[in-house]
Amino acid sequence: MHSIEKKLTRQISQANRRFDLIGQDDRVMVAVSGGKDSWGLLSLLRVYRTQVPFDFSIIAVTIDQGQPGFDGKRLEDYYAVHGYDYRIVYKDTYSVVIDKTPDGKAYCSLCSRMRRGILYRQAEELGANKVALGHHRDDLIETLLLNQFYSGRVRSMAPKLVEANGGATIIRPLALSAEDDLRAYAMEKEFPIIPCNLCGSQTNLKRQDVKRLLKTLEVTNPRIRGNLLASLGNIDTSHLLVGELDSAKDELQIIEHD
Ligand code: SF4
Repeated sequence: MHSIEKKLTRQISQANRRFDLIGQDDRVMVAVSGGKDSWGLLSLLRVYRTQVPFDFSIIAVTIDQGQPGFDGKRLEDYYAVHGYDYRIVYKDTYSVVIDKTPDGKAYCSLCSRMRRGILYRQAEELGANKVALGHHRDDLIETLLLNQFYSGRVRSMAPKLVEANGGATIIRPLALSAEDDLRAYAMEKEFPIIPCNLCGSQTNLKRQDVKRLLKTLEVTNPRIRGNLLASLGNIDTSHLLVGELDSAKDELQIIEHD
């Protein structure tokens, strides 16, 4: 096994031990968008499956969202040649997202909510109790910073999200893995990458700003990404405003008005 594959599979194993993501008899539906991360996840889960003493099944699901230039045939060929169990679902969310997103706002928010709804329905139809998403360490820490900078809250993406209404559990087996490693893995495996033309057409996204900020800070602090990830599991609520939020808000308002 190549070293990058070994490293990433080991991290999936660590994530599974830590967050209890996949177990015996799970049916894992992998949401494959056609990007490097979800291709990596699909491939790595198949490798991981051969290494663990329990059995689980994998099915790949891709949503054809009606985006111009989406080449479903390339994906289908790849799935077939590599022996994946798969389904491609057509739903034109593209027109809705274009129509409903106000000018200057990012498409991803509405688009991902619609995608999530479709994925839940597919999971139900396919009998999948887990839906695996390709978000990685850098997605988690960028989301943390975005929420802090622009929404005033401490929130990221959970490695495991159990649905309150009994639907499939969302899992993120790449939560401990770096985007750069997934990029290298995708190049090594020559996945048929299909870029998202929708959000790719937007240049001034806040996420790009956060990515740039992290890159800049990383020059003097190479541990910054690891530290930010660690902070998500190392929360000292006694030194936050939890439980005192209302009085703290009042205080902030007083300061603002001074
Ligand atoms: S706009 Fe593209 S990247 Fe954003 S959620 Fe939709 S498909 Fe994903």
